[in-house]
Amino acid sequence: MKVYEAVLAGAEMLKSVCENPRFESELFLAFTLDTDRRYIIINRDTDLKEEDLKHFFGLISERKKNIPYQYIVGKKCFMGLEFEVSPAVLIPRPETEILVEEVLKRLKPNSRFLDIGTGSGAIAVSIAKYSINSKGYAVDISNDALAIAKKNAKRNAVDGKIKFIKSDLYSSLPDEAEFDFIISNPPYIRSKDIEKLQEEVQKEPLIALDGGKDGLLFYRRIIKDAGKHLKADGYIAFEVGYNQAGEVKDLLKNANFFSLEVIKDLQGIDRVVIGKRELF
Ligand code: GLN
Repeated sequence: MKVYEAVLAGAEMLKSVCENPRFESELFLAFTLDTDRRYIIINRDTDLKEEDLKHFFGLISERKKNIPYQYIVGKKCFMGLEFEVSPAVLIPRPETEILVEEVLKRLKPNSRFLDIGTGSGAIAVSIAKYSINSKGYAVDISNDALAIAKKNAKRNAVDGKIKFIKSDLYSSLPDEAEFDFIISNPPYIRSKDIEKLQEEVQKEPLIALDGGKDGLLFYRRIIKDAGKHLKADGYIAFEVGYNQAGEVKDLLKNANFFSLEVIKDLQGIDRVVIGKRELF
């Protein structure tokens, strides 16, 4: 079988599960041959080895079960960095890059940050990578997620700048840990809406998605105990779900945060809420 024949056969198999079957088929073949998509397009008439074909169609069959592309190839690009991903972690989303960028704009040199529910480590690793000499803690309740986050810090050469701790929000942080920025993309989907998510999204970890009855459970918990670990002039920055910005802003306002800002994502949806702690 030639390259283009494999691409077409793969695309045909993927028709029912993805929007760009041809494109994904090309990417899977490129991944199989440890090359890039350009090679696949240029070398369309090259004959493929039996073992490569077997590998390629194995990947396509996985994808046909609605397993996200990124779990199959085991990686995802975020903020121009490469992250390992597995079904133990949420796949980093482009919207979350906006959260990171807004934090980076406000972060002073030598700051201390806390990333709550770090998952793959995408937020903490990018902030450590792109900020000027900032360091932080990244916490998660899942050991499997932390193992991946630690690998991602190493892979991106910031493992000396982040302490990874298994912790239910603040519970296992050292008492004296104080931060300039608390950042989180917590689970924010309403429990009853989980079953309405695309089948592909439902392959992602439920604990990274389920935000309780009204989706706001983790915002409430994070804001309630923020005072203990946030510096007097520190910030909280959240990613929020569709239609949640107003409610999260109110939660912050009621807890004496001010300078509340809401930033939209590229689709025009309110996606990031930032508040500054009242000085007193
Ligand atoms: N952005 C994810 C989604 O759309 C949800 C992530 C989260 O709950 N923090 O499915």
